[in-house]
Amino acid sequence: SKVTKESILKRAEDLDVKFIKLQFTDVFGTTKNVAIPASQLEKALDGDVMFDGSSIEGFVRIEESDMYLKPDMNTFSLIPWQSEYGNVARLICDVYNPDGKPFEGCPRNVLKKVIKEAEKMGFSMNAGPEAEFYLFERDENDMPTTDSRDYGGYFDLSPVDLGDEVRRAIVTSLMGMGFDIEMSHHEVGEGQHEIGFKYAPALTTADNVVTFKFVVRKIAMQYGLHATFMPKPLFGKAGSGMHTHQSLFIKGKNQNAFYDENAKYQLSKTALYYIGGLLGHARGYSAITNPIVNSYKRLVPGYEAPVYIAWSEKNRSPLVRIPARRGMGTRAELRNPDPACNPYLALAVMLKAGLDGIKKKTDPGDPVNLNIYHLTGKQKKDLNIKSLPASLSEALDELEADDVVRSALGPHVYENFMTAKRIEWDEYRTQVHQWEVDRYLGIY
Ligand code: GLN
Ligand code: MG
Ligand code: MG
Ligand code: MG
Repeated sequence: SKVTKESILKRAEDLDVKFIKLQFTDVFGTTKNVAIPASQLEKALDGDVMFDGSSIEGFVRIEESDMYLKPDMNTFSLIPWQSEYGNVARLICDVYNPDGKPFEGCPRNVLKKVIKEAEKMGFSMNAGPEAEFYLFERDENDMPTTDSRDYGGYFDLSPVDLGDEVRRAIVTSLMGMGFDIEMSHHEVGEGQHEIGFKYAPALTTADNVVTFKFVVRKIAMQYGLHATFMPKPLFGKAGSGMHTHQSLFIKGKNQNAFYDENAKYQLSKTALYYIGGLLGHARGYSAITNPIVNSYKRLVPGYEAPVYIAWSEKNRSPLVRIPARRGMGTRAELRNPDPACNPYLALAVMLKAGLDGIKKKTDPGDPVNLNIYHLTGKQKKDLNIKSLPASLSEALDELEADDVVRSALGPHVYENFMTAKRIEWDEYRTQVHQWEVDRYLGIY
């Protein structure tokens, strides 16, 4: 049944909701919220709740600061843990200008715009992310550390795995918020975990990533732990990725546009061109899918994170892997994104890159079914295999040079992102790091 203002008001009353969090996400992927008492819910559903946009990073200047929140009624959900002041629900919102137009600095609006473009081409995108994270101890002052008392590894079973109980608590809360959980397991790193949830249309998936991170952090905190989605918290250990499985469906039909029973690899032309687009724009969108200085410490050989721009049907070293599943489940897994990304912007640029591949009929080349980590420089050159950017700075230069990716973001988001990220890089670049002191102080 269709969700209406009336049905939400009724549900809120039936569930005895006392407060509602109106959520939205800034350009850098940080989720913000305004809490309203239930008495204001009707006004909020009418899109009449205003806030000061100038206080949000990357939004607007003081002179033009009034912004409106328009809740997406499909996102109404109870927050499944107790508060002594009554039940709390949340609504995810789009940000609007006072003139009633969608605000182009709102990442959710950016994704919606690219989704519309896909629809015009006859497609809808499904996406399934795998956001990995570490659970770390807190110190006596409650500050996060990088220690875990967990010595478990990939798929290990409790009691080695201290995260077992926490993971169950997280899964239970997520299910309470309507997540379709497929599995949860210990990841490769000590203290590293993954919880898999079902793919969904791109917009829902971006909302899900936001909710997922919020729930994981919150429940970890209740257990006295710190959950981090930082891409590479420990040198020499596995990083945390957010591999993103993606496919296009024929709009309005329950039919996967990537599947062609009779084609080579059983992949349709649409699938191959989409992969071509993902590969062709990879250097351009990395700044969005891997947006922090630390992201590039993960993209190094040896940890199942991609370094080279190639695709494969089998092995896990290239950027794009095609899982064995065919039929409705035919999809491409893009392996460079990490969970520090803004999921709205990340899905917007991935989709845009794929659509551009379809428009331009970009040939992805042959799959590389070898472990590319082990190829020599000459072999890579012969096979024409390029690398992902090696640093945030390089990624920003590449973003600057990629008109297609830039057009997905729109000028507002692009300029605010670029300015802030150049400053972030400069701050890092001018620091003297411990590694330099250890390496040079004695010798020079
Ligand atoms: N942690 C790896 C990464 O950074 C992925 C490991 C896996 O899921 N097989 O991408
Ligand atoms: Mg996985
Ligand atoms: Mg994993
Ligand atoms: Mg994966």
